[in-house]
Amino acid sequence: MRARMDLTGRTFSRWTVLEESAETNSGRHWLCRCSCGTVKVVLQNSLTRGKSTSCGCYNLEQLQSRKADLTGRTFGRLTAVEELPTRRHTYIEWRCQCRCGNETIVTSHDLLCGNIKSCGCLNAELRKKRIAKVRQGLKKNKVENVVVSQLTQKLSKTSKTGVKGVNPCKQANGSVMYSARIGFKGKNHHLGFYHSVAEAEAARKRAEKALYEPYIQKLAERKKTKN
Ligand SMILES: [Zn+2]
Ligand SMILES: [Zn+2]
Repeated sequence: MRARMDLTGRTFSRWTVLEESAETNSGRHWLCRCSCGTVKVVLQNSLTRGKSTSCGCYNLEQLQSRKADLTGRTFGRLTAVEELPTRRHTYIEWRCQCRCGNETIVTSHDLLCGNIKSCGCLNAELRKKRIAKVRQGLKKNKVENVVVSQLTQKLSKTSKTGVKGVNPCKQANGSVMYSARIGFKGKNHHLGFYHSVAEAEAARKRAEKALYEPYIQKLAERKKTKN
């Protein structure tokens, strides 16, 4: 087994390592003091690969000086290639190369503050991942095009009767009756008007048993056979 690296006392740019901190899934961490005095826990990889050079004070100083040379420095997926003669909000614009191959123009401000970390491909990837996750969640809950989790959704907070699909309905003569409804396969089915919530609830329950039960059961069986 390789000996575990001990970084105690070593310096990495502005960081001086004080002691080892808790290890997580992303790796070993070290408690470090920046030359400005700030103490922070830093990921070992960020130290040894030079990704983290200070608590952020270095970038801030560079930003304030407004003429930082960022040539060759990387910020997330972007590497600053060339300073352009153009300015935006008084900040220098940089031609940057993104890891995906695209080129993009970013101001020194957005680079140094970490506002922009890619040509846009990073956000697009994250968005795609989120959509895929939602789709997969729906697929897992689908039986013959019916999303079962929608059938078993909790009662809406705005319900006036405390029963799903049952709502008070004022009649022309001033009395109140209760309508029962059920949504299924994109359609809203009316199940009639009743004098009491209990009767309307019974009608709704019958409809749930007829329309929803088969799908709920099929999904339950599918989950069982998978385990
Ligand atoms: Zn600092
Ligand atoms: Zn990119």
